[in-house]
Amino acid sequence: MPGKNISKAALLSPNEVTLREELRADVQKLAGEIGERNMWHYAKLNAAADFIEDSFSRGGLHPRRDSYEIRGQACHNIEAEIPGQPQGAAVSSGALASAKAASPPLIILIGAHYDSVFGSPGANDNGSGVAAMLALARRFAEKTTQHTVRFVAFVNEEPPHFLGGDMGSFVYASRCKARGDKISAMISLETIGYFSDAPRSQAYPSPGLGLLYPRVGNFIGFVSNVHSRTLLRRVVALFRKHAKIPSEGAALPSFIPGVSWSDQWSFWRCGYPGIMVTDTAPFRYPHYHSASDTPDKLDYDRFTLVVSGMEKVIEDLDKL
Ligand SMILES: [Zn+2]
Repeated sequence: MPGKNISKAALLSPNEVTLREELRADVQKLAGEIGERNMWHYAKLNAAADFIEDSFSRGGLHPRRDSYEIRGQACHNIEAEIPGQPQGAAVSSGALASAKAASPPLIILIGAHYDSVFGSPGANDNGSGVAAMLALARRFAEKTTQHTVRFVAFVNEEPPHFLGGDMGSFVYASRCKARGDKISAMISLETIGYFSDAPRSQAYPSPGLGLLYPRVGNFIGFVSNVHSRTLLRRVVALFRKHAKIPSEGAALPSFIPGVSWSDQWSFWRCGYPGIMVTDTAPFRYPHYHSASDTPDKLDYDRFTLVVSGMEKVIEDLDKL
């Protein structure tokens, strides 16, 4: 229902109010306290990694570092996993059941990059995605899932690593492929906290898309390449079933500007289906990649509705 205003706080349940304050605190920690975090601000990059690792641990998870080096400096992706428990694997018998039990569960992977671009504290890009990923990890730590659900904070998404071999997610996805990890869905949480009800607050990379999609930036976007369209449609349908915020989905050729602009690209390159959840970043957010991308710019109520909707999406994806 694009164009429809939501009356904000009234729509948040008590659980969502709790979630909102977690999101606010983690964005403040990453962008307000730690600030710009990248290879030029290497101590801050590592402070962010330590914070993420500690957050996973406090949530009852067992984080692991997936590390590599750039010119002698260590860089770390941080991952934490809820091991899948396929239904019936423990109690059933017979050849078919044991064959099923022998194959490891498929993996749903929720990722967000934790570095910020040069010159920016990165509150929305991508403190928002990391805060959401951590909040979801805390909630799934208390659930039993059939799929293995893996949460990963990626290092070095921003230039000069962007869409290159030393991008954290590309190193990570390549290792998944080499190990033979069976990832059935990669969901990249990328800049998800800014919304506007102003007329013409939403722009697009091409005029054609502007005719097809809303001109008011009050929705959350789901974007994929054409190859991942089945996953995209499934996720959008599940999100719309539950969420209290408008959404738009688009499976597009990856050459259209913006479509491949985050960690889902790395997974596409390694043959995995992946989608990006985004407020569309440069096509809406006036503070994109600037020093003014600070925690106060986010709309925490609507950001919360995105994350609580995604919790339901992952629960439902797990049942498919
Ligand atoms: Zn980003």
